[in-house]
Amino acid sequence: AGGGRDWKMLGGGNPARVPAAEKVWRRRLDELIADADRMERLLVYYDGPQGQADFIDALSGALRDRLGWNVGPENIGITNGSQTGFFMLLNMLAGTGADGKKRRILQPIAPEYIGYADQLIEEDCFIAGRPGIEHIDAHTFKYRIDFANLPIGEDIAAICVSRPTNPTGNVLTDDEIRSLALLADEHDIPLIVDNAYGAPFPGIIFDDIQPMWEPNMVVSLSLSKLGLPGTRTGIVVAREDMIRSLSAMNAIVSLANGNIGQAIAAPLLRSGELFDLCRDEIRPFYEAKSLRAIQWIHEAMPDDFDYHVHVSEGALFLWLWFRDLPITSAELYRRLKERGVLVIPGHYFFYGLKDDWRHRDECIRLTYSQEEDTVREGIRIIAEEVLKASLQPRH
Ligand code: PLP
Repeated sequence: AGGGRDWKMLGGGNPARVPAAEKVWRRRLDELIADADRMERLLVYYDGPQGQADFIDALSGALRDRLGWNVGPENIGITNGSQTGFFMLLNMLAGTGADGKKRRILQPIAPEYIGYADQLIEEDCFIAGRPGIEHIDAHTFKYRIDFANLPIGEDIAAICVSRPTNPTGNVLTDDEIRSLALLADEHDIPLIVDNAYGAPFPGIIFDDIQPMWEPNMVVSLSLSKLGLPGTRTGIVVAREDMIRSLSAMNAIVSLANGNIGQAIAAPLLRSGELFDLCRDEIRPFYEAKSLRAIQWIHEAMPDDFDYHVHVSEGALFLWLWFRDLPITSAELYRRLKERGVLVIPGHYFFYGLKDDWRHRDECIRLTYSQEEDTVREGIRIIAEEVLKASLQPRH
């Protein structure tokens, strides 16, 4: 941040600047400013803790009409970003209850979003399943939920997944989501699906999947990865009683939400322009970047090397697995940092996994959404360091 060195910042999760999207936000801001009374009201009044009625109405209409979800405004709660939404949701569900029993969040697949890891006020509230690994070709793999060995017992308060998954770019299949919803039903607990990158917006999801909501599901959405993270607008779709609890918590934690993102997006939801933007601009923008970055990885790595890229089905990241690399991903991270390349070592994303698994130290996450030269040069340096490390004895 201080400038100086030419850092290759492949560690973060910031969305890219998508020119077509920026044009729409600018136009909407111009429209808001031109409507002086509306603008003044936006700035001077606190919203109710559930969110702006106009936005919630537009969103519930769009979810009903476009996706066929049986939801109304009572099923939608707004928070100051979905990160804050998750802090409230996860603490509402997990931890030690009035009955003295401790309840945990089950992640059916580790690795999972690092941003949940420290959100629970009580220690040791995540438990994760070890995934199956499907090799799609010599250098491409996909994690699958190992349903037969999921650690689901009496102590589980909710099941939680991100879809697409941060860090891997995995998109759980419709069948996997349906099976998780069934499992959640059987245990009388909610299934939380974090759609921060997914459907119906921002649509950084390269498979055509069927977004699903049922009364025992909590679906989280966000305006951030559309290119509006500065507006801090998170959205929770859930049963009415859960939304009431969430809004009550939000009143205590936040008093009210930022309202500019909601004001920008409401008419775009009503007209459908937001969905067109996702389909025509945002998804192709990221998909092309992802494909190019994967191509560069294959060009930089020798074909007979034991490296594997998780299939890129969405989100902003590529997940690389260097099987049997003699050094840990933490050490690889350190060496890359010395060369001016920042990535995230993979072990941070396995916080819910209790058993030892060498795999957790063999992976890194990198962001493909930065400028092309940065990503390409970063990948070249990663390949160099990995090849160098592979020649030394294992420790
Ligand atoms: N969920 C996932 C999977 C994310 O990757 C992020 C941010 O990177 C968030 C939630 C939080 O997003 P926000 O608080 O900006 O809505």
